[in-house]
Amino acid sequence: MKVIAIDGPAGSGKSTVAQALAARLNLHYLDTGAMYRAVAFAVIHQQIDIHDIEKVIQAAKSLDLQLTQESCVVNGIEATEEIRGQEVTLLVSQVAAVPEVRAEMVKRQRTWAEERNGGVMEGRDIGSVVFPDASLKIYLTASEEVRAQRRAAEIEEGDVASIAADIERRDTVDTQRSASPLMEAEDAIVVDTSEMTLEQVVDHVIELIP
Ligand code: C5P
Repeated sequence: MKVIAIDGPAGSGKSTVAQALAARLNLHYLDTGAMYRAVAFAVIHQQIDIHDIEKVIQAAKSLDLQLTQESCVVNGIEATEEIRGQEVTLLVSQVAAVPEVRAEMVKRQRTWAEERNGGVMEGRDIGSVVFPDASLKIYLTASEEVRAQRRAAEIEEGDVASIAADIERRDTVDTQRSASPLMEAEDAIVVDTSEMTLEQVVDHVIELIP
């Protein structure tokens, strides 16, 4: 099984790089952030109080998720755009900090890869927790300023300052949670993308494949 793990904080270029890599290498692609976003969407939609942990866990376990590179359908509801929206983005890191929610998503991510004999997987804990034996582990980073600018260009909603604040808030929750926090896997190769184009990053990562 060939798994390429692309981890890193928000706005580091993970999605763009992981999708380009998957296309170039003809591998399947999984955005694990979209899975946590889908749980947050379900929590909002079912009007669950985020502090009612049992209900949040139940929402994760019972989640019917149809996720492709182009679309996301959650419990039969089309949610492609909404999972990227402000409401979900505000809640997602809290949902992703619940250990049982993570356990459920990790189980699904492993099954996904087994069924396809691997793929390019992007997230926060792919190289550290989901696939510690991945063929290649990349940890993408970029300066805070560059990350905020990239997100602003991507979502065309909100100003750079408020996006920078949102990224900082999520980074803090993601790195400080006790259940598999965002961190570089010991054997991950760190790539700082601040001053690189997407093409340069993809070429560089392809050269690193063993
Ligand atoms: O990658 P994206 O920004 O869409 O991820 C949304 C959120 O999902 C992250 O801020 C993080 O809280 C959570 N996440 C996670 N583990 C992953 C992928 C995403 O905790 N593997």
